[in-house]
Amino acid sequence: MQHTVIDGVDVYWAQGPAPMIATLTFGCGVRDESFRTLGVTHLIEHLAMSTLPRLHHEHNAMVDIEVTKFFATGKPAQLVDFIAAVCEALSDLPLSRIEKEAGVLTAEGSSGCHPTAGVLLARRYGIAGPGLAPWDGPGYDRIPAEAVTAHAARFFTRGNAVLTLTGPPPEGLRLPLPEGPRVVHDPVSPLSVDGPRWLAEDVPCVGMSLRGPSVSPVDAMGLQVLSHRLTEVARKEKGLSYGVDGDRASADSASTDRFVWVDAREGQEAEVASILWDTARELATFGPTAEELEHEVAGFREMIEDPRFVDGDLDEFARSVLLGEPYLSPAQWLEALAAVTPEQVAAALTESLRTALIVVPDGVRLELSDVDGKLVELGGCAAPEWQPQGKVFKPSLLARATSAAARGARLYLAPDGVALVDGGTRHFVRFADVVGVLARNGSRTVFGRSGCVVPVDSDLFKGIEPAIAAIDAQVDAGLVFPPSVFAGD
Ligand SMILES: [Zn+2]
Repeated sequence: MQHTVIDGVDVYWAQGPAPMIATLTFGCGVRDESFRTLGVTHLIEHLAMSTLPRLHHEHNAMVDIEVTKFFATGKPAQLVDFIAAVCEALSDLPLSRIEKEAGVLTAEGSSGCHPTAGVLLARRYGIAGPGLAPWDGPGYDRIPAEAVTAHAARFFTRGNAVLTLTGPPPEGLRLPLPEGPRVVHDPVSPLSVDGPRWLAEDVPCVGMSLRGPSVSPVDAMGLQVLSHRLTEVARKEKGLSYGVDGDRASADSASTDRFVWVDAREGQEAEVASILWDTARELATFGPTAEELEHEVAGFREMIEDPRFVDGDLDEFARSVLLGEPYLSPAQWLEALAAVTPEQVAAALTESLRTALIVVPDGVRLELSDVDGKLVELGGCAAPEWQPQGKVFKPSLLARATSAAARGARLYLAPDGVALVDGGTRHFVRFADVVGVLARNGSRTVFGRSGCVVPVDSDLFKGIEPAIAAIDAQVDAGLVFPPSVFAGD
C-alpha cells in the first residue's frame, strides 16, 4: 500500500484491476450525532451529492454507524472531477436545499444499519452513539442549518478524511476541503445489562448481538462458523428460514458489536430464535470441528486472492486510520485465522455469549435455557432506579374512555425529572438526561438517554400544565423541537 498527502489529506493506494475506484471516507457516522441532530450526517451527504452535475460513470455515497463515504468508479480524469466537486460542495454546503433534501431523505428512510441490528444497538447503548441508529429523531426538516454547518465544520475536514484509490493518484488530483483535525470520537458506554437477555421489539427478523474486541480473528471465526451452522439447520434441514446474515458496529476503537440475524417464516420466530441460541451455546461448549475451521480459512483465502479485493482492503484500512482501530492486512488475517484453534473459539464465544442480546419480533415469547436456568427477558427499558415521588397526574377522561389500560397509568413530576408508571413498568427521565423534547400545543414528549419516552400529553393526563412548565424551565431550549412537517400524525 502506498501513501501520499494531497492538499493535507492522507491518500492511500494499491493497484487493483481497471476501472479505478476512488473512495473519500470521513470519520463520521450516525454514532457521532445526537438525538436532536439525528440524520445530520446523511443530510450533509445528500446536500453535497445534490450539487454534482449529471455524471456518466458509477458514483454514490453512504453513511453507516462509523463512517461516511463518497465513491466513484471510472477513468482517472472523471475521478479527479468527482473528488474535487464533492470536496468543494462540502466546503460550501447548499443550505438553501435543506428543505428539499429533507423530504427526499424522509422518503428514503435510512438508519445506517440493518433494522434488527439497530434495535439491538439501541437496547445496548440507549439513545446515544450507535444506539441512535433505529430512532427517527426530530426529523430532517427540524435540524437547524447552524447544526448542519457546525457538524460539517467538525467532521468533514482534511484531517478527518482519507482518500483511497485502486491505482496511482491521477494527474491533477485535488482535495479542497476545509482545514480541521482528525476527530477523537467520544466513547459510548453500554447500559448496564447483567448477563444474556432476550427481548421482543419491532424488528423484521430474529437477531443476536455480541459485544467483544473490535479486531479479533477468533471472534470473527466464531461468528462465521455460527452463521454456517445456522444456515444448515434453520434453512436447509428445517426449512424455517430463508437466510442468515450479519454485520458489526463499533462503539469505540476497542469494542464492537457483532450481529447475526436470521429471517424466519411467519409463526416460526420462536423456533428460529431457539435454534440460534442453542446452536451458539453448543458451539461455545464444544467448539468448531477442524473441518469447519479449514473451510473458513479456505473461503477467506479465496476472497483475498480475488484481484478486486484490493478495494475492500483499502476500505478496511481507511476505517482503521480514521477510527483508531487496529489494522490487520489480508495476509495477517489469513495467518491469524489459520492459527485459530477450536478451544479458542469455544472460549471466546463462551465469553461473548455473556453479553448476548437476542431479539424477536413483537408478540413472540421465548423459553430459552442458559447455564444458570432460564434466559431472562430484558423487559421494559433501562430506566434508572426510581421510587414514585412528586406530583401525580391521573389519566384524562378521554384516555380513560378510550383505553381500559390507560386507567391505571400515572404521570409523575418529580423534583429531578418526569416518570410514567404503568402497572409494573416505570419509565423515568431525569431532566439532566433528556436528549430531546417534542413540543406540541399543550403537550411534551420527553426522550431520555436510557431510551425511556415519557408522554406529558394533555390527551392522556389531566392538569399537566405544571409538568410542562417544569420541563420548559429545566430542559435546555435547544433540545426542544416542534413536530416534523413529514410526521404522519
Ligand atoms: Zn423507560
